[in-house]
Amino acid sequence: MICLGIESTAHTFGVGVVDEKGRILANVKDTYIPPEGWGIDPTKAKEHHKKLADGLIQKALDEANVEKPDLVAVAIGPGLPPCLLVGLKKAKEIAKKWDIPLVGINHAIAHLEIGKLFAKFNDPVMLYVSGGNTQIIAFESGKYRIFGETEDMGIGNLFDSFGRNIKLEFPAGPKIEKLAKEGKQYIELPYSVKGMDVTFAGIYTKLKELVKSNKLEDVCFSLQETTFAMLVEVTERAMAHTQKNELILTGGVSANKRLQEMCDIMCKERGAKFSAPPLSLAGDNGAMIAWNGILAKDGATKEYDEWDINPRWRVDEVKVSWIRDKSK
Ligand code: AMP
Ligand code: MG
Repeated sequence: MICLGIESTAHTFGVGVVDEKGRILANVKDTYIPPEGWGIDPTKAKEHHKKLADGLIQKALDEANVEKPDLVAVAIGPGLPPCLLVGLKKAKEIAKKWDIPLVGINHAIAHLEIGKLFAKFNDPVMLYVSGGNTQIIAFESGKYRIFGETEDMGIGNLFDSFGRNIKLEFPAGPKIEKLAKEGKQYIELPYSVKGMDVTFAGIYTKLKELVKSNKLEDVCFSLQETTFAMLVEVTERAMAHTQKNELILTGGVSANKRLQEMCDIMCKERGAKFSAPPLSLAGDNGAMIAWNGILAKDGATKEYDEWDINPRWRVDEVKVSWIRDKSK
């Protein structure tokens, strides 16, 4: 069985082709980059996706050397409604054209499942850090559950918003990482952890004040050290609570080497395994949707109208038919 997966929840339009053994036959994407100084405008991202969708679908099929897949999977949430609608409309269009079933996929769970496939992990905790998301997710009692999350902004958005303040080009994360390497002096920032949740808004306010009278390198260094320590602390708590000994770090921010290093150290100290998949699989991509489509194929249907977007779809609302619940 071959599944074509479409990702269009935010700024990336991605198309992946994956077979039932988990072989990734194609994984192509194009990301909408907002003009300098701006955040993501969902309408502009939608236009970007509409323009590039057909070309990317064809490119993925050509690369995979597949004429017609057996299944179409599409991320239907969580995400930005205008962007989600482009992906779903395309998915329905091609599923109808080929007369094959369609399955709607949860974007966050797809990140986790492709991480499991890559790392060959069975039952990990996932630290998912992207522009809009910061969540700690794991499987427990028949469902994926969110054990911890940000109560305000996603960590990537914090980096990008601060970056905009100091005139760094979007995305600011990689530039902040580079500056942080030159930082020497740690400046205290509000360390805000409640149980397994975190908040970043207080840090953002403080950063704007600090840049006026401190070296930028030191501010970036302190930003990373503080936020990453918060994330590693709550992740470790989730691993202890769930008694799991595998960690997957994923999402665009997972490219950060310092965050990878801190997760790695924490896992080594616990005797746990750690994996940070390559960015082609950790960032938003179509292969993860296609692979989750293969796993969730039992839920696929040719009654295409049964599928709609679900912009606030929480992972604990997803029926996980492909994992045997050991707790029962
Ligand atoms: P995503 O939303 O998963 O596509 O990830 C994009 C986010 O990752 C943006 O907010 C980037 O600023 C952030 N990002 C990318 N690379 C890095 C890095 N090396 N360090 C920190 N943040 C990063
Ligand atoms: Mg994502």
